[in-house]
Amino acid sequence: ITGYVGFANLPNQWHRKATAKGFAFNLMVCGESGLGKTTLVNTLFAKSLEDQGVLPSKVDKGIGPEVPKTVEITNITANIEESGVRCRLTVVDTPGFGDYINNDLAWRPILDNVEKRFNDYLDAENAPTRTQLRNLETDKRIHALLYFIQPTGHSLKPIDIEVMKRLCDRVNLIPVIAKADTLTDDEVNTFKARVRADIEHHGIKTYKPEENDYDDEDTIMENREFMAKMPFAVVGSLTQIELPGGRRVRGRKYPWGVIEVDNEDHCDFVKLREMLVRTHMEELKDRTAQTLYESYRTEKLMAMGI
Ligand code: GDP
Repeated sequence: ITGYVGFANLPNQWHRKATAKGFAFNLMVCGESGLGKTTLVNTLFAKSLEDQGVLPSKVDKGIGPEVPKTVEITNITANIEESGVRCRLTVVDTPGFGDYINNDLAWRPILDNVEKRFNDYLDAENAPTRTQLRNLETDKRIHALLYFIQPTGHSLKPIDIEVMKRLCDRVNLIPVIAKADTLTDDEVNTFKARVRADIEHHGIKTYKPEENDYDDEDTIMENREFMAKMPFAVVGSLTQIELPGGRRVRGRKYPWGVIEVDNEDHCDFVKLREMLVRTHMEELKDRTAQTLYESYRTEKLMAMGI
């Protein structure tokens, strides 16, 4: 019957609507206060977040780390467009994380939040009422987690190890070295090697681009570069600095020179952004849906005896 919209057609229709509106990408940031999470997110998505109001930096506002009494989870959403494809980006921040004397359970509210998003999705799939189908349409599952590591130059802290271990089976974990401009190039390289060794030693599974037999050369190169840079050494800044030649760059100024955010020779910011919004966005979403969510779903249904 033409013009008839059967119930079975609805999810499909919603799916098409979601594609026309663009797709959702949900990025969570995690790490101790003052490591530059807010600044990096603003630097990553500066143009798109401008309209919605840039995220306020807690430290610049003079709010000390002792203020939040629990780990709170906050969201900001923006619409970004890349090569004609629209994306509804949500950044989920976890202020208060790691700010306590006893951080043993710091991972708990974060894992709970990640799992709750899986659980809501599962409910919506299993009992599709109208409202729940709308929840399916806006996918709230976390597609990537940027974990900020303090640039100590030594090794991972116990809290980093614990949190990454607890979260790595539920989320695409991408560790980054925060404020890389505070380390020299040599220090960055040594620190990266230590962090990689720690990650391996503790059995932490960080996100790895999937390799397929049908990958073309570009993809193989992109994946190799990704793995070579991991953990990404990042610098965030919204400040425009004029270089001697008159060129204006985003960066951080030191007596001995300027560290440019958007210069691949200076830090891994460009690589990280390219990977997140261009080369690997789809794969991060696929892995979330097909691997991470699926194993959550299987475990949950098994626990329920279904
Ligand atoms: P958050 O608490 O992790 O969200 O950290 P903020 O983004 O609020 O930044 C804390 C402070 O560190 C601010 O004064 C920032 O200007 C500064 N900051 C942010 N990113 C960087 C960076 O990449 N390098 C340096 N040196 N400082 C940074």
